[in-house]
Amino acid sequence: MSIKDQNAFWMPFTANRAFKESPRMVESAQGVFLTTPDGRQVVDATAGLWCSNAGHSRTEIADAVSAQLRKLDFTSIFNFGHELGFEYSERLVKYTPDGIDHVFFGNSGSEAVDTALKVAMQYWDVRGQGQKKRFISRQKGYHGVNFGGVAMAGLTPNFKTFGQWLMVDHMRHTLDIERNAFSKGLPTQGVEWADELEELVTFHDASTIAAVIVEPIAGAGGVVLPPEGYLQRLRQICDKHDILLIFDEVITGWGRTGEAFASTEFGVTPDIITSAKGITNAALPLSAVFVSNKIYDTCMEHAKAPVEFFHGYTYSCHPVACAAGMATLDIYEKEGLLTRAKTTGEIGSYWQEGLHSLADLDQVIDVRNYGLMGAVEIRAPKGQAGTIGPKALTTAWEKGVMVRGVGDAICMSPPLIIEKQEIDTIVSVLRDVIPVIA
Ligand code: PLP
Repeated sequence: MSIKDQNAFWMPFTANRAFKESPRMVESAQGVFLTTPDGRQVVDATAGLWCSNAGHSRTEIADAVSAQLRKLDFTSIFNFGHELGFEYSERLVKYTPDGIDHVFFGNSGSEAVDTALKVAMQYWDVRGQGQKKRFISRQKGYHGVNFGGVAMAGLTPNFKTFGQWLMVDHMRHTLDIERNAFSKGLPTQGVEWADELEELVTFHDASTIAAVIVEPIAGAGGVVLPPEGYLQRLRQICDKHDILLIFDEVITGWGRTGEAFASTEFGVTPDIITSAKGITNAALPLSAVFVSNKIYDTCMEHAKAPVEFFHGYTYSCHPVACAAGMATLDIYEKEGLLTRAKTTGEIGSYWQEGLHSLADLDQVIDVRNYGLMGAVEIRAPKGQAGTIGPKALTTAWEKGVMVRGVGDAICMSPPLIIEKQEIDTIVSVLRDVIPVIA
């Protein structure tokens, strides 16, 4: 039966009708390569969905998962525990910035975001400031698809229909192509966008605001970088007004920027960090919310009931996912992957130079990059804004590279194991693709 005849599957975030007419199928994956059913090799320039950081189908993870499934496939984590979960938690918090030494588990980035918002609310509640329930997020932000996350969303299609549930206000995004086009690494212009937070705090009053949530680098919004000093300024404003700062590191975590977390790379410590995707190399669903000692201790000391936090998922701290996570950390450590993306390093700088070599194409109006992330922004023909991304995705796929299209940007985040020749392939395919699509 062909895919055209198999209509049961309602695919997520996909143009279902178009896809079923012209499917792009993946049969297997190994390292940086995907293989299609007709045997074509495609370079995965997106690490799946910003997540297969150590490359695909890692035997070490498969073995760990298989062994765990045979030993302890599941146990309730409400009122019961398993040693692996405690051991894994201790290991995980060694990667987080100093002072963030606690972890709450979920299964997806979306669950991590909603958990983080609830942690913030819980913290203010036990401090006797339960009226602090408003959040400030940012345009172009993506925080998953659960009800908390879509309220935070700064992408119109996600927010407009579904996101009107929490009290939230949005700061402006930091994409400023006019001033910052072709920046290598962090753009130098735009730190003042952070001052919008000060204005919003004045407008709503700090006594109503629980937390600010941003991605250190906005991924799904099109690889939007923070200008130099911008995140530091957000931190200062939050401190000044006693507002929590949440970094959504679902994409930027686990080596994407050249450190385990962008918080460390950028030298800004939030109060809460969300993490998922690369935490298990995407082999199994698992997410984590890392919480500062200040928040955890306050929630424990001032708890209003024996159960300190009425929150959790059946599969929080799933033992099989923990086993996948442990094996993933082994790989990251053994292969030095968490710092491999650094732009000062060989691969990170090769990536930067490769992407920026496309700047000579007429259609390219911006190239931006950090660590092993990058976007090439294309000038859309008049009246056709937003049409380039989908065309880039399909054309690049046909020519042997998987990319993401966001608006008119071609977005990429290859596995951290990528080598120079695969970067060359990506760049040369894009050089062919760009003139065809714009
Ligand atoms: N937060 C950010 C920054 C993300 O990029 C994503 C997914 O791309 C999510 C949250 C949601 O993660 P998930 O799709 O695992 O729910």
